[in-house]
Amino acid sequence: MRVAGRAVIIVGGGEEAFAKARLLAQSSAELVVVAEQVEPAFADWLAKNEIALLGQPFDAALLKGAALVFAATGDEAADRRVVEAARAAGIPANAVDRPELCDFFTPALVNRAPLAVAIGTEGAGPVLAQKVRARIERLLPPSLGALAALATGYRSLAEQLVEKGQPRRRFWNAFFAGEAARNVEQGDIESARRAADQLLLHPEEATGHVALVGAGPGAEDLITLRAHRLLMEADVIVHDALVPEAVVSLGRRDAERIAAGKRKGCHSKSQAEINELLVSLALSGKRVVRLKAGDPLVFGRAGEEMQALRDANISYEVVPGVTAAFAAAADFELPLTLRGVASSMVFTTGHDLKGASLPDWARLAIDGATVAVYMGRSNAADVALRLIKAGLSPDTGVAVVENAGQPGRRLLHGTLTDLPALAERTELTGPVMTIIGDTVAGARFDRSEPIAARRNVTADCGASR
Ligand code: SAH
Repeated sequence: MRVAGRAVIIVGGGEEAFAKARLLAQSSAELVVVAEQVEPAFADWLAKNEIALLGQPFDAALLKGAALVFAATGDEAADRRVVEAARAAGIPANAVDRPELCDFFTPALVNRAPLAVAIGTEGAGPVLAQKVRARIERLLPPSLGALAALATGYRSLAEQLVEKGQPRRRFWNAFFAGEAARNVEQGDIESARRAADQLLLHPEEATGHVALVGAGPGAEDLITLRAHRLLMEADVIVHDALVPEAVVSLGRRDAERIAAGKRKGCHSKSQAEINELLVSLALSGKRVVRLKAGDPLVFGRAGEEMQALRDANISYEVVPGVTAAFAAAADFELPLTLRGVASSMVFTTGHDLKGASLPDWARLAIDGATVAVYMGRSNAADVALRLIKAGLSPDTGVAVVENAGQPGRRLLHGTLTDLPALAERTELTGPVMTIIGDTVAGARFDRSEPIAARRNVTADCGASR
């Protein structure tokens, strides 16, 4: 409904009227509130927003020339009188929470002005509409309004310079999904304009982009909203073997998927090959998501990939994820830092424990740091023995989680003395995170089993999973 400069009348001074006023204040209508009594907060708001308040009883004559009328008195008979007066004057009316009296409904709104998404339930379920709204809110980046506004400014230029049909569609596709959109997202409108200008002049040269994205520990709902959005926009998803199918499937169905492998013992592509692949995909104009387990910057070889992208002058971004140590700590309800117990934390693979000299982090562990050991199952015995030798108490707590953050996770606990037994646990086939430190004592153990459970290991082999 075009309401710019026209009167929209709200009758009522209570909470319902206030809610409608707040909604309509987002439009360009001339808002008029009619109420003899107005709640103080509403009155303050009206004054602050310079909205007209007529402190008089409702009168049909007030509706003259109005575009829309809202009856929000909170009283059914009064609302009905307002609606009837509006109808008699040929003005569409809405009565708050009285669908039977409404000529039209006001939808729940996801506002990214000038873009708006309206959710209507024909008055059936405002709560349902709010739930749907919350989900759509999450899907649309906050910067979308600014991008839409920028697009408005390029419409006539695009009509003049880019051929109608396929080429123009391609232009807008590249505009909304390419560099201009990314710049707006970063709040850099100047660069967005430059990218859009470039696109107008050379629409065929759409530039590729790589996002190094953290997939989290493997549960679909432990991924960030930004990661989810990028997955849905990607042309190609290059993922590690550790990222479960369900998470990769959050991407567009027609996106190309490339498994980059890299699971212990079955390297399907070398790091150099992966770097080359990312560069060549981006150079061909593709939007690439490089999906890595956990956080991309933690034992993810992102450093090499970023270097290759920088060398090839390709634009890229990094999206953090929930790293395995955090997922495992959450599963165990284990405080990684604890007042008076541990005030620092170490992320390590333990692989550097093999040499003759002790790595710095071992010293930190002895001073009370909590240690998260990645990729540490096969060298668990080494880690334990070396730490004990270095002076860490053999009674120091150890928490182990296989498939942390996932429904099929498995929790084990014990002490440093028990840790070598982990290597014998051949039934653990998923990724394993080990946390060592005094804070482990603060964890919850009723869902975990002892690491060194006396069981017939060979009989178990291959039986589970
Ligand atoms: N970038 C990843 C780590 C990659 S290194 C992150 O931030 O989590 C791979 C190691 O991470 C595995 O050997 C294992 O030790 C750990 N890991 C990854 N996902 C895991 C999970 N869901 N549960 C337990 N450990 C996990």
